[in-house]
Amino acid sequence: MTTSHQYDLLLKNGHVIDPANNRDGKMDVAISGGHIAAVGPDLNPALAAQVVDVAGHYVTPGIVDIHVHVYHTREPEGLSVMADSHSFRSGVTTMVDTGTAGAKHFLHFKRTVIDRVKTRIFAYINIVDLGMLGDFEQDIRTMDPELAASIVLAYPDVCVGIKTAHYWTRQPFDEAHPPWAAVDRAVEAGNICQKPVMVDFWPRPPERSYDELILKKMRPGDIHTHVFAQQFPVLDDQGKPNPILFEARERGVIFDVGHGAGSFWFRNAQPAMEGGFMPDSISTDLHTGNVHGVVVDMQTTMNKLLNLGMPLQEVIYRSTVTPAREIGHPELGNLTTGAEADVAVFKLLTGEFSYVDCGRAKIYGDKKLECAMTLRAGKIVFDPTGLSMPRWQDAPEAYWRLPW
Ligand SMILES: [Zn+2]
Repeated sequence: MTTSHQYDLLLKNGHVIDPANNRDGKMDVAISGGHIAAVGPDLNPALAAQVVDVAGHYVTPGIVDIHVHVYHTREPEGLSVMADSHSFRSGVTTMVDTGTAGAKHFLHFKRTVIDRVKTRIFAYINIVDLGMLGDFEQDIRTMDPELAASIVLAYPDVCVGIKTAHYWTRQPFDEAHPPWAAVDRAVEAGNICQKPVMVDFWPRPPERSYDELILKKMRPGDIHTHVFAQQFPVLDDQGKPNPILFEARERGVIFDVGHGAGSFWFRNAQPAMEGGFMPDSISTDLHTGNVHGVVVDMQTTMNKLLNLGMPLQEVIYRSTVTPAREIGHPELGNLTTGAEADVAVFKLLTGEFSYVDCGRAKIYGDKKLECAMTLRAGKIVFDPTGLSMPRWQDAPEAYWRLPW
């Protein structure tokens, strides 16, 4: 019977936001063979094997979170979360592990996580060969640009760049710890493999200033994550966005949220956004230390930006189109016909809500996006309220059979 249907699944009556294709309105989304078959008004339900009425919901491309830690199979560890347990419930279908693994563990990470989970996982390879293990990312002798780049070059379908983080934030600089060693070596690796570098940074002027990082060291396409962290001069003396942010953006430097346990502060985010500086991409930096607060998940992070005044269409754009582009995968983050059918369905609630930052302070807001359904490659992987299910009284014959 299903063989006669043109579509496997039809999401009917939703409000589609698909910024890559300038779609923003009531449309249906048809899926066939795990791919987007058609998007448009009034698609014929008779052509579909299954029709799901998503009236009152927003339908968007699957969300792309480019900063997470999901190498949960490594021991001893404790940092990483299990990707599938945290992705789909937020509409996330693609995650990028940011440097949990370095060159020495990438294959184990790939074999035990990336190749097994349902979430699509990419990786930034840590410039440090052991990645985030032990007293991580301090020993410059373990930062080998050629080794890190060789992994990216060997696995170009999975590896999207190089990561550097956490390097020498407190102790005095010395011969064994030059100020720019981590950034310089990561950029060198990025040059060898021709991929972006994602930079987590701690400014220590005058030897290591933020200006120098974003105006000189980083290349066009490199990504500064944690943009609204407390340690950055995001605002000038008048409380306006620091002009160097715009200057760096002109150069092609990308600014990513990377919320994390310590890197998202309303005191930077709100004035910067009110002054016209929007982060290019929204991401969580999800790990075991922040899933129960202050990050919780991707939709909560998106809600913070939404309630800081970023329009809904922009929130979706910066959680789909821009992150996909930043990692060099523009085939993701859209509902283009033929694309793999990664789709998120959200309800937009209105009411009284509050959201917290890393300084344990909050904002009040009146909007809350809540993921109602997620599709990964055309399969429903999250449907907590039964959008795709009948009332029990109307359930098909199989529902009524005894289990033996
Ligand atoms: Zn991180």
